[in-house]
Amino acid sequence: SNVLVCGGTGCTSSNSEQIIEKLNEEIKAQGLDKEVNVIRTGCFGLCALGPIMVVYPEGAFYSRVTPEDVPEIVSEHLLKGRIVTRLLYQETVVDENTTKSLNETTFYAKQMRIALRNCGVINPELIDEYIAQDGYAALGKVLTEMTPQQVIDTMLASGLRGRGGAGFPTGLKWKFAAANQADQKYACCNADEGDPGAFMDRSVLEGDPHSVLEAMAIAGYAIGASQGYIYIRAEYPIAVKRLQIAINQAREYGLLGKNIFDSGFDFDIDLRLGAGAFVCGEETALMTSIEGKRGEPRVRPPFPALKGLFGKPTVLNNVETYANIPQIILKGADWFKSIGTEKSPGTKVFALGGKITNTGLVEVPMGTTLREVVEDIGGGVPGDHTFKAAQTGGPSGGCIPASLIDTPIDYDNLIAIGSMMGSGGLIVMDETTCMVDIAKFFLEFTVDESCGKCTPCRVGTKRLLEILDKITSGKGTLEDIDKLEELCYYIKENSLCGLGQTAPNPVLSTLKYFRDEYVAHVTEHR
Ligand code: SF4
Repeated sequence: SNVLVCGGTGCTSSNSEQIIEKLNEEIKAQGLDKEVNVIRTGCFGLCALGPIMVVYPEGAFYSRVTPEDVPEIVSEHLLKGRIVTRLLYQETVVDENTTKSLNETTFYAKQMRIALRNCGVINPELIDEYIAQDGYAALGKVLTEMTPQQVIDTMLASGLRGRGGAGFPTGLKWKFAAANQADQKYACCNADEGDPGAFMDRSVLEGDPHSVLEAMAIAGYAIGASQGYIYIRAEYPIAVKRLQIAINQAREYGLLGKNIFDSGFDFDIDLRLGAGAFVCGEETALMTSIEGKRGEPRVRPPFPALKGLFGKPTVLNNVETYANIPQIILKGADWFKSIGTEKSPGTKVFALGGKITNTGLVEVPMGTTLREVVEDIGGGVPGDHTFKAAQTGGPSGGCIPASLIDTPIDYDNLIAIGSMMGSGGLIVMDETTCMVDIAKFFLEFTVDESCGKCTPCRVGTKRLLEILDKITSGKGTLEDIDKLEELCYYIKENSLCGLGQTAPNPVLSTLKYFRDEYVAHVTEHR
């Protein structure tokens, strides 16, 4: 038997390490250590039901397992072949003797896993398990059968857009960087996921770190870079540890370093840890930070494709973007384009949080409606409460009200309704949530995180927050609401970087759909 236990941050924080320890002890005590493998995997996605354990060959999906449950699982299931029904994820139970596969449950049925394909499937600390799932086959294909131009053409044809939030075409980024000649170029990865409520990239790195390394090497080959850096938050210790293990193993296997696959191509990757500044997720600030300077954005142009890290041509892609790339190379651009919508091919990973039953990580084809994500996959709003709105894109995004719940999610649709995809945080709110409070919450975050380099953002966001404080404390006027709106547009148009340009979005979108709540704050308290 193989016993898979989630070793992602969510399940680790609810004791999965103790469960693994206890499992190993009990398995040894029962003399099963030659027949049973205990595998620590990445995230399965159903974080609300953690800690999660799956026992094969039966595929029994145990949820909310405690260390105290382990002796029963070992003596009943592993020793006698009797599934412990009381611990099964209820949705998988058909009757006493039959369970259905995870893919048939409402949480997984509408999902499609490309970026998350190996999360919860392999042991991320063993390169052989990644290789057994076609790992590094795409790098092999690229280095032995394709020219850099063909790789770029494939990326362009696939239509893959940056999953970090802005949705810029990845192939175009690579094409620009490849066209600029230099003695040194860089292919970097943005793993500085900082939005409140977002944990997509963390889960990919914890569950499948090699997919990112492989894709970075492919990017390096395409643009002519020999060095890569992954800029990752120091607050992600499990991801950092697994990445470092993965880098060491890839070097040992000759998949990073000199002359990869005897092709003459050299590429290596190093980690750089971020110290918790949200602005360092902005590409130019990130590069400035890698250079060892204070992480502040730079004026663009010049864009990183021309003058990026250390003044050299650089591509920077986000974790989820990279995680898609090996599959695109192996299965082709047409396959990728056949998924999702015309202008946003592929899938998107969302971190579901807030007032939702199935808090967790989901990956759906672009074009899936918000209703399908919230009601079918997410299991809806718990209790007798009703769905009021969902906030996408965290502090740079906006809210989607219940009246637009049937909007198919893709980059362009979300912008059209005043929100944005962002990196994938999706926070659900019910009728008890005050939307002005939500706007204030995100604004407090951006005020804290503004780097202070430019005045519209440094001073403007503070003034926005002061007005919001005045409104929520019942001292505001209708004129304050107009002033708030006017200032939002001023900040958006005049800030230097994406942080300031998007900081007013939560205010603007709540004003657009829930203006009555702002008005109620200034009229009903008088
Ligand atoms: Fe810094 Fe804000 Fe200006 Fe960006 S917009 S450079 S975060 S002050």
